[in-house]
Amino acid sequence: MHLSEYSLRQLDPAYLDSLDEAALRALSVQLLDDLKEARDRLNQGPDNSSRPPSSQALWERKNGSPPESDAAVEDGGLKPASVKTALVETIPAKTTPARTSGKQPGAPGIGRTQVFQAHEVQTHYPDRCAGCGRPLESVMAVAYTGFQAVDLRWNDPGRLGLTLWVVDHRYYEAPCPCGHRTRAEAGQGKGEPLLSGIELSEWRLVGPGLAALIVALALRFRLSRARIQEFLAEWLGLKLSIGTIHQTIHEASAAVAPAEEELVQAILDSDLLYADETSWPEQGQPLWLWVFRSLTITLYYVAGRGKELVNNVLDGFAGWLMSDGWMAYRDYPRRLRCWAHLLRKARGLAQSCDREARVFGRLVLSTMEVLMGAVYAAREGPPLVDLPTHYASELAELRAACTQRQGSAHNKTHALAVEFLNDWDAIFQVLHHPQLPLTNNEAERALRHWVILRKLSLGTRTAVGSRVVALLASVIDTCRQRGHSPWRYLERVIADRRAGLPLAPLPQ
Ligand SMILES: [Zn+2]
Repeated sequence: MHLSEYSLRQLDPAYLDSLDEAALRALSVQLLDDLKEARDRLNQGPDNSSRPPSSQALWERKNGSPPESDAAVEDGGLKPASVKTALVETIPAKTTPARTSGKQPGAPGIGRTQVFQAHEVQTHYPDRCAGCGRPLESVMAVAYTGFQAVDLRWNDPGRLGLTLWVVDHRYYEAPCPCGHRTRAEAGQGKGEPLLSGIELSEWRLVGPGLAALIVALALRFRLSRARIQEFLAEWLGLKLSIGTIHQTIHEASAAVAPAEEELVQAILDSDLLYADETSWPEQGQPLWLWVFRSLTITLYYVAGRGKELVNNVLDGFAGWLMSDGWMAYRDYPRRLRCWAHLLRKARGLAQSCDREARVFGRLVLSTMEVLMGAVYAAREGPPLVDLPTHYASELAELRAACTQRQGSAHNKTHALAVEFLNDWDAIFQVLHHPQLPLTNNEAERALRHWVILRKLSLGTRTAVGSRVVALLASVIDTCRQRGHSPWRYLERVIADRRAGLPLAPLPQ
């Protein structure tokens, strides 16, 4: 726990002189911790860098050289020269913030007018003196501030329905014989550098359970902020501003942000990964929503369509990668190709008006069908001869047909022939390992839900907004994949992280 502003303002040389040695030592340790953290906060993060927040994601920092300020912190302390640079850089970054969409800082908001009858009062007392460390008596304490929170209780065994639960929080200040007055304060979570501007705090109208419902309505049920507002007001009688709903979703994503590291590690450790991407506009910019899905996790990113993302996410991955034919995946050696895409293209050619295209399409189709049958059979029991050897002549015939069609006047015939030739090994890898999948359905199915969200929401408006969606989507889908309720997990981690506790591991 940090020393509060209130306590800090009371400390002066006279007070320090009055403390005995043990109390002074304890206070020094506290001051030192606070000073180090304050210094770190001053010198790191995207605020003092000219790079936009989205270009500094975790997966990006693994490769190449980290930003200067991070390197300095990792070296075990800032050198005087870099302190100066960092401070100088802070000034322009802070004085010329990019205008964000939505409510501007300092702009008048719509105040809350509803006041509720509380179901419960929760009192918060300081347990020891922030100055001398002595335990404090709550009888001497006086309430100095408080707020009302609305939370959601749901799925009670034996009781159906959603119950909004109102809690009056009261915070107390207690005097100490040493003269210092200590205040209990609402918990404050550690912010995320890539989600700048989003704060985690216990001082919130929306409790953790209600926050989980709002995230569910936004991302699982794909309601707009306005529709969520309508639902809460008309069905639960709770009037929240659009700003509060928006802030709640963003805070939830900051709460789960540290899970990304665990998810990336699980990706790297997996034996088989399905990857896919779909377009995702961000304020008119044509970005992509990427998905990486293994047996136990699903990880999303919103990024460009370049190779960097794939290279960075898969740096250190040694398993099989199932993907479509997109260039970004080509460099990866242990690659599988989705046959569904190829079959679709071959079927298109087989139905073409062009005679040569029809002949080629039918040959591709019939060869792939024979080979698919062989793969299915091999999964039931190992074949006597390995499939590439057994089907060597069919493969050779197909290859010759592809070579012959290269440069065909019929565009799609040429394109499919070239696609086979360029990706031959990846396409037929499955013949060597019949247990591996033939299609990328796992990844495509994962994306389908978010494609509908994109159509409804038209993508996101800011880099932070994109990151919020990707983080929450990763956590929601991973929990569901593991057979756990994402909402109970979210409720718990929002409460923990608002209190300054670390993120609980994802349900296994
Ligand atoms: Zn004291």
